Amino acid sequence: MVNLAKVSAVEKLKLLQAGELTAEENIEFFLQQINPNALEQAKAIDRKLREGKAGKLAGLAIAVKANINVRGLNANCASLTLKDYISPYDASVIEAIRREDGIVIGITNMDEFACGSSGETSAFGPTKNPHRHELIPGGSSSGSAVAVAACLSDLALGSDTGGSIRNPASHCGVVGVKPSYGMVSRYGLIDLSMSLDQIGPIARHVDDARLLFDVIAGKDERDATTLHDKHDEARKARLAKRPKIALPVVQADEKIITAVQENVYRIAQEVEAEISEIKIDHIDLAVQTYYPLVYVEFFSATRRFDGRRYGERIEEVAGPEVLRRILGGSEISKAEYAGRYYRRALAARALIRQELDKIFEKFDFIIMPTVPRLPHKIGQALSVEEMYAYDSLTVLANLAELPAISIPVAKINGIPVGMQILASRYGDGRLFAFAKRCEEIL
Ligand code: GLN
Repeated sequence: MVNLAKVSAVEKLKLLQAGELTAEENIEFFLQQINPNALEQAKAIDRKLREGKAGKLAGLAIAVKANINVRGLNANCASLTLKDYISPYDASVIEAIRREDGIVIGITNMDEFACGSSGETSAFGPTKNPHRHELIPGGSSSGSAVAVAACLSDLALGSDTGGSIRNPASHCGVVGVKPSYGMVSRYGLIDLSMSLDQIGPIARHVDDARLLFDVIAGKDERDATTLHDKHDEARKARLAKRPKIALPVVQADEKIITAVQENVYRIAQEVEAEISEIKIDHIDLAVQTYYPLVYVEFFSATRRFDGRRYGERIEEVAGPEVLRRILGGSEISKAEYAGRYYRRALAARALIRQELDKIFEKFDFIIMPTVPRLPHKIGQALSVEEMYAYDSLTVLANLAELPAISIPVAKINGIPVGMQILASRYGDGRLFAFAKRCEEIL
């Protein structure tokens, strides 16, 4: 047969019309390109299903963000640095998915090295919002949220350092979960910022996200931060009666605030929850605390991309946002500045963590918008500050290692808006149970 990779579309049409190529063959060819093993795996799993030996995800199609290693696929982090990098191994989360017979359908676009909130920093071009093609879908797990929203997969994996799962989930009208730090192994995730990153599920329904979470959560010898047994508790947790909800004052688009508040009061009535409006004193420090930490940890993580072992030297090919962080990180981490930025950021992080822990002594959940504003048009020029402000409500959970979920709450001018729920550390199971209740009511 002809080599389909070499034939132009016009030539291909002639072959199709002459009956020398079938449409089915052509589409199968592309499925093979996306993931050469997927169909083979599906056939093997069908056999297991018939024999009654199949796992918890048997036959489901799962899209995976391009910063998670899947053996044989291209974990390029949407960067020219790793353009041709083929993963030689599976991340622990992928092993877990395979064990339960889930099928990786393909790798998704993202902001370059997960640096971004819009999906626009990908070296391969922006991802479009499936609800309004001219708008950003959010980021950095842009492709994973879109894959789920546009029904290109059953489920998806993203990574969340400061909101990268919840933010695109919010803009795309799907469910996105950032687990407690340490719930899910980071082994095989290409780091943005190792003390903040967590892999998590994106799905169309809360229960679907929980299904994938249950599979990927757990202790992993290869990631020392997972050394605790909280995941079993999380798997079993049920909804508490009469939950106490904290509704913090936030800076956000008025329409978004109203949409979230109205719905929270509605939910509260249904579940007989008690709502208190609160103030988070350190909320305005969150973005300023987050970025120095990310810059320094990212700078350190990128030192391996020196062009010798993996792909190209990052400084030579990366886009402006990645370079800004590498430069910034190298400056901030210079010995003479140590006390000035990095240690201060660590101290501020501790304050934020303490404050949130205190809130969770009194409340079961904090509810607020996921993203403070509606998505902008692809290509619209935003200042760095404006871009970073997208993260102002999501970074809190990462800084304090808390679990957080975004579920669709409303549409404003046809654009989906997400509501964010946070729970106490390792309260992931309770969070899922409550989010499910909210989803039913909404
Ligand atoms: N937008 C944030 C950043 O650029 C979050 C990224 C993420 O969570 N990966 O750092």
